[in-house]
Amino acid sequence: MVYQTLFLFILGTAIGSFLNVLILRYKPGENVFGKHLGGRSKCPHCGKVLKWYELIPILSFVIQLGRCRKCKKSISIQYPVVEILSGVIMATVPLMTGLTLYSFVWVAVLLLLLAASVIDIRSYVIPDMLTLSVAFLGVIATALIALGKAGSTSLIPGTFLGSYAYVFSFTQNPWIGHIAAAVVGASFFSVIILLSKGKAMGWGDAKLAGAIGLFLGWPDTIMVLMIAFILGAVIGSVLLATKKKKLKDALPFGPYIAVGTAIIFYWGLDIMTLYFRFLNLGV
Ligand SMILES: [Zn+2]
Repeated sequence: MVYQTLFLFILGTAIGSFLNVLILRYKPGENVFGKHLGGRSKCPHCGKVLKWYELIPILSFVIQLGRCRKCKKSISIQYPVVEILSGVIMATVPLMTGLTLYSFVWVAVLLLLLAASVIDIRSYVIPDMLTLSVAFLGVIATALIALGKAGSTSLIPGTFLGSYAYVFSFTQNPWIGHIAAAVVGASFFSVIILLSKGKAMGWGDAKLAGAIGLFLGWPDTIMVLMIAFILGAVIGSVLLATKKKKLKDALPFGPYIAVGTAIIFYWGLDIMTLYFRFLNLGV
């Protein structure tokens, strides 16, 4: 188990290093999976073509103390952060779901959300191809859940909220639950966009919420969106208070949806248990 986890972590960091290339070479309006992904990696400052030993995930950054070996300019912290997160995703998802086809769908979705988040932070855009990929994996996930291949023991198939999902649920049919969550997620954001005339959110957020709905289903998607809004409000206030952002500045929302999804996947049941224990204490 330890060796499997270590192997998956290293494999994950290598995928993370590819995600960095995908993120950095993306230009809004272009296909994120386009042919610009080919070609050698270079230092963004001096253009030095990087050797294999300068491209080892995490290690190269640490050994070079975060600087280019030629021009000594600093390398973005984004490189090791994305590599470490990808490694952690790859290593820990199978610990939660077992090493199944379903776990690979989850790894792929979390990696796509990671790439979408960093691109959203850098350029306030969520590439459609990433959202479409999540939606496509959403259909596959729903099919696996419907076929009983998702390893869920809850009354509500595919949920990460355990039996608490039953309290919020209206159907045990995975297809109905996932399509309903997609429609509600996308519509909810669309209403906010129309009411705020596009100032609060962008259509990229609405499309991503729809894709996550298709992937996670009802009621998990609602929990993800609640967590995303709470995180967005808290972190947005901190950024305003510390004057890092102004009220009229655009704030990327994709990362909150991504983090909300990860929180429900890893700790959804724990949060529900704590919440209902808290309610019991109250009455
Ligand atoms: Zn350089």
